[in-house]
Amino acid sequence: MNDILPDATPRWQQLEAVTRAILAAYGYREIRTPVLERTELFARAIGEVTDIVEKEMYTFDDRNGDNLTLRPEATAGMVRAGLTHGLLYNQVQRLWCAGPMFRHERPQKGRYRQFHQIDVEAYGLPGPDIDAELIVMGARIWKRLGIQPLELQINSLGTPEARAAYRTKLVDYLRRHEQKLDEDSQRRLGRNPLRVLDSKDPGTREIVAQAPNLLDHLDQASRAHFAALRALLADAGVAYVVNPRLVRGLDYYSRTVFEWVTTRLGAQDAVCSGGRYDGLVAQLGGRPASAIGFAMGVERLVALMEEGEVPMPDAAPHAYLVRVGERAERAGFQLAEKLRDALPQLRLVMDCSGGSFSSQLKRADKSGARIALVLGENEAQAEQVGFKPLRNNAEQVTLPWDAVVPRLAPWLE
Ligand code: ATP
Ligand code: MG
Repeated sequence: MNDILPDATPRWQQLEAVTRAILAAYGYREIRTPVLERTELFARAIGEVTDIVEKEMYTFDDRNGDNLTLRPEATAGMVRAGLTHGLLYNQVQRLWCAGPMFRHERPQKGRYRQFHQIDVEAYGLPGPDIDAELIVMGARIWKRLGIQPLELQINSLGTPEARAAYRTKLVDYLRRHEQKLDEDSQRRLGRNPLRVLDSKDPGTREIVAQAPNLLDHLDQASRAHFAALRALLADAGVAYVVNPRLVRGLDYYSRTVFEWVTTRLGAQDAVCSGGRYDGLVAQLGGRPASAIGFAMGVERLVALMEEGEVPMPDAAPHAYLVRVGERAERAGFQLAEKLRDALPQLRLVMDCSGGSFSSQLKRADKSGARIALVLGENEAQAEQVGFKPLRNNAEQVTLPWDAVVPRLAPWLE
């Protein structure tokens, strides 16, 4: 679990601001759900036979003996909230939810135990146009963040029925090569065989390369849905590769799955993954409702922004107020508030550490401020202030207080 220090937070804020703006522009609204939910919710929504539920959740009994879990992802809580408040039945909802998620994983670069996601979901929309909307919206976010191109992988899982027939064929095939599969895959073969397809073990991958292809087993309607999605992506100029090994193991998934991957972060290559889960709302006790969404991994995106050439937003103060002497300290305090009233976007730091002009000016310089406002006893008495540009060799000038606002304004970009 990481501390995100003040030098790093501007990058996070930049990512959040860009993402929020784009989500709002597409009509998505924010929902905030608790970080704790009943464990049972995740067992049902994510599936008992998944890495997350089998071994990654932070689960405990509270003082009443209720079994609770720190959310490992956001979708389950959003659907639970939607059902609790009647947001999903016969309605269209475009929603997003951001915040920390918790998984007890083996920590490594790009993989943490508390990490952050921005999760985007659309409910009540069965057509391929919403699948395409979510994907092109992602592409727009990456572009505006200045991230190097990501690879978009897409696949279709068809309907649960079509998949069940495929699963039988897949298991037949894999059983014939069982000895050559890695241990995890052997275990999954019995319980969640589709997951064998996305194994990272080289030996297993060789076997999987020859396995029956899910895309050859799609039902007619899913085939049409996938074709329509591909056409919309082509219209939007969003490049993709079809990866038939991109899967989710659970029955409530249907049709579209997608993932944005990078080659620049080592083994942790997925920065965003999503898919359609038309069966989940009913599985959690609601009336059936179409659903599709994706989750962005914020740490991994921030890492990509770091190594791109996106300039860090400037968080340094515009102005730094130096006050020397008792009268100047008092008058300066008032001046600072007047300036903040007049210029709401002004970043003004008031020196409160005391000391001589030169020691305060040193701190002004170190703060990165562009302007020092210098107030001594004489200036305070005359309601004037020294206006000293710090980033070039311009002369300090003395201004009456009411001339400071117009003088500062052009420095606020
Ligand atoms: P991975 O294959 O890397 O374990 P996942 O399939 O478990 O990913 P999802 O549950 O689909 O990941 O979560 C969506 C995104 O959240 C991932 O693409 C990734 O960017 C990010 N993510 C998942 N787990 C972590 C983690 N432990 N630390 C940091 N980011 C994570
Ligand atoms: Mg994982």
